[in-house]
Amino acid sequence: MNPLAEKIISQEEKYSGFLPRLELIYKTMDDQYNELSRYYGFCCTGCDDNCCFTRFYHHTFAEYLYIKKGLETLDPENRKEIKEKAFSICRQTSELDQSGLQVHLLCPLNYGGMCVLYAYRPMICRLHGLPHELVLPGREKRLSPGCDEFESQCGTKGYVEFDRTPFYASMAELERDIKKALDISERIKMTVAEMLTTL
Ligand code: SF4
Repeated sequence: MNPLAEKIISQEEKYSGFLPRLELIYKTMDDQYNELSRYYGFCCTGCDDNCCFTRFYHHTFAEYLYIKKGLETLDPENRKEIKEKAFSICRQTSELDQSGLQVHLLCPLNYGGMCVLYAYRPMICRLHGLPHELVLPGREKRLSPGCDEFESQCGTKGYVEFDRTPFYASMAELERDIKKALDISERIKMTVAEMLTTL
């Protein structure tokens, strides 16, 4: 096992108390997202350019540990199959990268268009799709459009503020506290597939 993953996972008594904080942050995101989706009349029913094909990187141990928690709710056979898929995807990704080809591989948690760990999915999976704004420290406010499906369904509706900044700030604060409790200074940048290969 990856030594850093081992160090983190072995300290469950230190990190488990932080996960309810993550759940609250996720709930706030989901509530706002759902409210705005209702306003726009946006309904994600899956599309050819499914965002679960996107190589999203995740940047917090909090999200990593929550995926771990979700994985533990599955039966051992499912877990084994998902991990095998994750290893295969990481292998294919590396081959495509080496050949300079585009990576368009489905997340190993997606089965038949559905996320098997939907309640445990990371932040970006929760926020993707709707137009939004973000202010990073020392930078100008950045406005970003919705996904292609959003634009085709609801692109003519006026923008309503969806500011990701407070979510990023809460996640950063939580991450700082978790790292302090676990006594780690490393940073994490992993896809879900990469996370799964270490769990
Ligand atoms: S974690 Fe779930 S929602 Fe996120 S990319 Fe994977 S399958 Fe899709």
